[in-house]
Amino acid sequence: MKMFWVKSSVCAAIGMIAAVCFAQAPGGGQGAAPFVTHQLKPNVYWVEGGGGNSTVIVGDNGVIVIDAKVSKAGGAELLEDIAKITPKPVTTVIETHSDGDHVNGVAAFPAGLTIIAQENNKKEQDAALAAGGRGAPPADRQPNKLITQPHESMTIDGETLEFYHWAPAHTSGDLVVYLPKEKIVATGDIVATSNPYPRIHDEKHGSTAGWIATVQGMLTLDADTFIPGHGSIQTKADIQKRLSDAVARRDKVIALTKEGKSLDEIKAAVGDNDKLNYKSWTEVVYEENKK
Ligand SMILES: [Zn+2]
Repeated sequence: MKMFWVKSSVCAAIGMIAAVCFAQAPGGGQGAAPFVTHQLKPNVYWVEGGGGNSTVIVGDNGVIVIDAKVSKAGGAELLEDIAKITPKPVTTVIETHSDGDHVNGVAAFPAGLTIIAQENNKKEQDAALAAGGRGAPPADRQPNKLITQPHESMTIDGETLEFYHWAPAHTSGDLVVYLPKEKIVATGDIVATSNPYPRIHDEKHGSTAGWIATVQGMLTLDADTFIPGHGSIQTKADIQKRLSDAVARRDKVIALTKEGKSLDEIKAAVGDNDKLNYKSWTEVVYEENKK
């Protein structure tokens, strides 16, 4: 993997006044690090920073983007970074799931895009729009090409893309994107390296069994590079370890739940002492099995 582009590294290197650096990093908010573009294959890039990871695929005539950052400013910064790679226009966005840090940046993208998402992702965005408030997805950049089958294949701009939805996992509408020619998988938040255990949005009808089925499915793909929703590139061995760890903890939590142990007792027994602002893997497994 070659580091392709490091934007405004001079800021850090020579300690230029902060305001200049802020001006160059509109997407991540004040003082946030600028995005970093990594070239993975001749026409495939991973853009790090500003919310979830983005994958950029340069096709024959246009550009395909997987996940669009957390805010309109982040989406605009992503477009600026893409313009440094290629003069071709962004024509297609793929959303791996409905969380705002992967979706909301699409507000900065041009009108008339094809926006691909799993059908349940669209339902989740509909619900978020109806609820309104901060963090709602952009109403005028909603998914307009829905994946309804467990596996669909498409050729877009000369690039073959395979879409997989094995089960509700991180959310009800996860979409795993596989590039067979490049042996790359964009996992969305099925994999996020910020925590060794998976995050399940039970409020979006995610499921721990579905997460396991999804990762088992991903491991059957002929791929060697996994671009996670957050964090650095993962190998197949990394994904396998994440799966084994999650299955082992889940089995233990289910066994202890069946013995009638309390959540606190179970967390202590399995060593879950992470301070998270969301339900941990242990907590979701416990709730799925306590009745
Ligand atoms: Zn997410």
